[in-house]
Amino acid sequence: MAMGKIKDCSEVVSKLYEFLDGELTEERKLVIREHLDECSPCLEAFEFETELRAMVSSKSREICPEHLKNKIADLINVNERNPQSSSE
Ligand SMILES: [Zn+2]
Repeated sequence: MAMGKIKDCSEVVSKLYEFLDGELTEERKLVIREHLDECSPCLEAFEFETELRAMVSSKSREICPEHLKNKIADLINVNERNPQSSSE
């Protein structure tokens, strides 16, 4: 079964996540790429999603959200416990 061109934008959008996750075959990626070349709304959605992912993955490598939450909680606690800490 040969895969033709995608006619339906919602089909491309529904495949974006699989595309970005690398779960599509090369052939399928090519079909989506071709559609993106011709369809700027889909291309924008694709680029937005790509950037978002890059941002999220680069941040999550550096900062664990759980760690960050604890840190913020610590800061709040310190301020509550010592409203004017170091002056005598
Ligand atoms: Zn489209």
